[in-house]
Amino acid sequence: MPVDPILALRERLGSVMDLRSATAVLQWDQEVNMPPKGAEGRGQQLATLSALAHRLFTDPEVGTLLDSLHTQKDTLSPADAALVDVTRYDYDRATRLPESFVHEFARECSRAYEVWTRARAESDFSQFLPSLARLVELSRKKADLLGYEGSPYNALLEEYERGMTAEQLKPLFAEVAAAESQLVKRIAASPHQPDLSWLDGTWDEAPKWDFSLRVLKDMGYDLDAGRQDKSVHPFSTQFDLCDVRVTTRFNPKELFSGLMGSIHEGGHALYMQGHAPEDRRTPLLDGASLGMHESQSRMWENVVGRSLAFWRHYLPILRGYFPGRLDAVTPEQVYRAVNRVERSLIRVEADECTYNLHIILRFEIEVGLLEDTLKVQDVPEAWNAKMKEYLGLDVPDDAHGCLQDIHWSHGAFGYFPTYALGNLYATQMLETIQREIPDLWQQIERGHFGTLLGWLRERVHKHGRRKLAPEILEGIAGGGLDWRPYYRYLEAKYGPLYGL
Ligand code: ZN
Repeated sequence: MPVDPILALRERLGSVMDLRSATAVLQWDQEVNMPPKGAEGRGQQLATLSALAHRLFTDPEVGTLLDSLHTQKDTLSPADAALVDVTRYDYDRATRLPESFVHEFARECSRAYEVWTRARAESDFSQFLPSLARLVELSRKKADLLGYEGSPYNALLEEYERGMTAEQLKPLFAEVAAAESQLVKRIAASPHQPDLSWLDGTWDEAPKWDFSLRVLKDMGYDLDAGRQDKSVHPFSTQFDLCDVRVTTRFNPKELFSGLMGSIHEGGHALYMQGHAPEDRRTPLLDGASLGMHESQSRMWENVVGRSLAFWRHYLPILRGYFPGRLDAVTPEQVYRAVNRVERSLIRVEADECTYNLHIILRFEIEVGLLEDTLKVQDVPEAWNAKMKEYLGLDVPDDAHGCLQDIHWSHGAFGYFPTYALGNLYATQMLETIQREIPDLWQQIERGHFGTLLGWLRERVHKHGRRKLAPEILEGIAGGGLDWRPYYRYLEAKYGPLYGL
């Protein structure tokens, strides 16, 4: 009896996804539970599982199945047709890189990571320079192998943000940088700086932990299909539609940072828990892009979690977790505290007002390297000049400048823009949401998030990878990527806060 090719494909993809999920469980465990001496063994286990999944997926048999399904495209259900499309795309990308190249790239990255760790500790870019130069060269080769139109950067950007190009981002980001850096300078010069002395002292971890779980539950995060743990670098991960994990970390000197980490990862987790059940064990069970994913985390963390309405609801509740300590504090004071704007040299410490500037600086340097308009040895100088131009800050040394991020040592060029795109997508969405849910802020003030979550589920989450980010955005905003809603959002929020 001949085997139905769509069933054969689904079966094969199911096995690949199982292997990838098992890999994700091991990675989660590595960050959350594993004792330090487990690292070596874990590295081997992860390498074996990844290689198995890769071999199973890039097997020529998968190509044959996809070819035969292509000929009967018109007879496929919409769900099967979407699966075939996305799998074809992944298959072509995965098979364009020869195994020898993949190994060479991985070897160079692990060497570069070690060199970068040392170079950063000693704040000395010259140590990292040869590694970075080789990774840029290999990344250009990767772009050639993958194929692209226009800038070679597009081939790398596509890995994280399919449908977006450097040509589109260059002028758009230049406008964002000009507008945002002006706003940040006005804020820095404002005499209305917040008084945060009420936050001095230490804040116990147990009540912060309990409160963060309470908020996650209120947001709609299903704790029977997820859990929260602690890790050095907060993240979220999905093993299945019904097993979506988040992590956070707490700093004893800070009341809000751990909570904001929980809400951020919770936003990612709600996206993952909102995919379509029929997409389980297929590559469709994923976000449209990293930028779209970041739009969900930033929607919840910044737009919702840093709103006055949110704190009118939650401050009285938070008081119960810290008896006596917050009685004299007002929601307005919390609102000011969680929206403090501070120009920082370090991206991961940046607030939502300055964040895009950190990203645009990196994007411009990456594009320059890939397009060969910037030499690797000139990276520190370019970095420091842009830091001065966008944020008005002098970079004291490389550790606080171009050596601060791990991404380039991983060969991950094209990743950074997705953070800024998340901000832009989220606020473009927000304008439509406020039109379609006119009492959004009254609902949030009552601690009701169901209407908002239902809206996001319907317009973003359920599509998984069936639609690309630009298509989702078009369906919501009725147009393409636009930075002005983000700027309008910043002005409306920070203008009154800083008396501009
Ligand atoms: Zn995120």
